[in-house]
Amino acid sequence: MSELTVIVPCKNEEEAIPLFYDELIKQTAFLEKRNTSLKVLFIDDGSTDGTVAAVRALNEKDERVHLISFSRNFGKEAAMYAGLKAADSDYAVIMDADLQDPPSLLEEMFTYLDEGYDSVATRRVNRKGEPPIRSFFARRFYKLMRKLSDTEIMDGARDYRLMTKQFVDSVLSMTEYNRFTKGIFGWVGFKTKWIDFENVDRSAGKTKWSFWGLVKYSLEGITAFSTKPLVISSLIGIFFCFLAFVMIIFIVVRRLVFGDPVAGWASLITVMIFLAGVQFFCTGILGQYIAKAYLEVKNRPLYLTDEKNCF
Ligand code: UDP
Ligand code: MG
Repeated sequence: MSELTVIVPCKNEEEAIPLFYDELIKQTAFLEKRNTSLKVLFIDDGSTDGTVAAVRALNEKDERVHLISFSRNFGKEAAMYAGLKAADSDYAVIMDADLQDPPSLLEEMFTYLDEGYDSVATRRVNRKGEPPIRSFFARRFYKLMRKLSDTEIMDGARDYRLMTKQFVDSVLSMTEYNRFTKGIFGWVGFKTKWIDFENVDRSAGKTKWSFWGLVKYSLEGITAFSTKPLVISSLIGIFFCFLAFVMIIFIVVRRLVFGDPVAGWASLITVMIFLAGVQFFCTGILGQYIAKAYLEVKNRPLYLTDEKNCF
């Protein structure tokens, strides 16, 4: 007998949880044939609504339902880590509570695990129902990420992924504070099968992502999985040194040949302001990495749980 743990990060999902549970139970009937038991592990990521109560109500009628409750909102990354750590079963899968990760794919996903894959990941082939501006920037981000990082990060990849214990343990062995799970999944390697599916709208409730939140998340991803911005800022520095050198020669020669009178205050100040901007930009990039290193060194826990709400 093997066991599957379904990990569900939840932030303010009281309406979505019962819908999710019903659909999940319906779609996991096939597990019995496989001789696999089911465990549903909700992670309450500092919800301020009735999320805890909703999970408790499910637990009262179904003891396979469990909950880990955080002391405050630590973010989905921390919630996924907590879930994977607590799962401790042969298979684990991460799913959103809003049914945007269709549980109906699970049966197909299992067939690939049985074929010998270590993880089965999912990817949205379209972004229907999403604001166009958000899709546009998301696409740009994945393009940029592919250029900047050696770790493969798929466009449209979801966190919805079925994993074997070996894969989960590898993901858990990366204990970094600045977690970017999409990158970590790629970094650990192993054989991964990708499944495409059409985007579905949220079952209930509303998205927890603001546009600004996504921008911050992207920067997190870039600094966590690439040091190329540092190289780029060094290259910018080298380029301007070279340019300055050429200009010095030009000015000295012109002075000697033509006897140049003092001129060009406007162009001088423009160049100075421009270069000051470039310098701040590069210092900013450096600062990003130092800040990340600072947070890593502090070695704070990724999350804290509120024991009275865990079962
Ligand atoms: N989520 C979370 N913590 C957060 C934000 C989101 O656990 O700080 C959960 C949320 O409850 C949901 C999943 O992460 O189950 C995906 O969030 P959402 O549906 O808002 O993102 P979207 O699908 O719009 O990208
Ligand atoms: Mg969603």
